[in-house]
Amino acid sequence: VQPELAGDFGTLMEWADGVRRLKVRANAETPLDCRTARDFGAEGIGLCRTEHMFFEGSRITAVRQMILAEDEKGRRAALDKLLPEQRGDFVEIFEVMAGLPCTIRLLDPPLHEFLPHQEAEFAEVASAAGVGVEQLKRRAAELHEFNPMLGHRGCRLGVTYPEIYEMQARAIFEAACEVAEKSGEAPIPEVMIPLVGTAKELELMKAVVDKAAEAVFAEKGRTIEYLVGTMIELPRAALKAGEIAEVGEFFSFGTNDLTQTTLGVSRDDAARFLGAYVDKGIYARDPFVSLDVEGVGELIEIAAERGRKTRPDVKLGICGEHGGDPASITFCEKAGLDYVSASPYRVPIARLAAAQAALK
Ligand code: PEP
Ligand code: MG
Repeated sequence: VQPELAGDFGTLMEWADGVRRLKVRANAETPLDCRTARDFGAEGIGLCRTEHMFFEGSRITAVRQMILAEDEKGRRAALDKLLPEQRGDFVEIFEVMAGLPCTIRLLDPPLHEFLPHQEAEFAEVASAAGVGVEQLKRRAAELHEFNPMLGHRGCRLGVTYPEIYEMQARAIFEAACEVAEKSGEAPIPEVMIPLVGTAKELELMKAVVDKAAEAVFAEKGRTIEYLVGTMIELPRAALKAGEIAEVGEFFSFGTNDLTQTTLGVSRDDAARFLGAYVDKGIYARDPFVSLDVEGVGELIEIAAERGRKTRPDVKLGICGEHGGDPASITFCEKAGLDYVSASPYRVPIARLAAAQAALK
């Protein structure tokens, strides 16, 4: 337990835990962040963003090799290099989070973040892939996007290159089997598909995950319980939640993107004008900090209602930045979500806010 949580403050937090209904999870993808989150009382990982892992150490060269490959064979060659390290990532996380659920989101990068820019970077990828620099540059130019945040990211990447999600799912299940074997306690993986807008996308991606699970369980001679669910971060997904819940076993509201796509405001550029919008009372508060309860909130309510109509036990959480904001947590309580997920250092605030929301 973190020293800050000892003494009177610890007692207060215990009282809060006795009152709150909402579970509190954390957004974390390194073992250290997971440890911190757990020490602050997180009851699971609500969002593990795997794209951050792809920049670790020397991996970025293999990642670039995969993205720039001309065909599936080329991508698989790069993915084979990434699998052992990705498996190691999940082993560490499952070990720290023993006994608690871990929502692992499959790759969701704006593609341009992975493209090489400097001559030396192209040279490294060329030597790893055994192809010429000019060919790689041509391919990088083909992959250029004018609006990467609305482009080839999230499950669109999994739809076009299913082998990427297959490798990640394999890494998750191999890691889960390894940890179960070593510790005697099975991890609780929840595999999350990002940027879904249609039930069909989720169906295709769930099939990839289930197939990888089946293959790994057959190889290892053991089965691990897991869920497959989706982010709800596009207005279309919120509206079609009834259909999406036929496939997905849980929803996690990605309110960063849901705010961006509902308001039509770029999350990366909003700072230029949001101050004026708040000053003039157009928005009561920065909608990327505190949920736009009337707009984005209504979509969350619609999705919760339609999702539960199809699947009464669909698990509902929130993992956008709003998951650590007390006013937004009050909304989540009213909307009947099951959990909020916040950055590790906001977990205590979320525990208190969840208790206050329950009392209200
Ligand atoms: C979100 O969109 O709210 C979310 C949690 O995902 P990311 O911030 O990684 O896009
Ligand atoms: Mg998102």
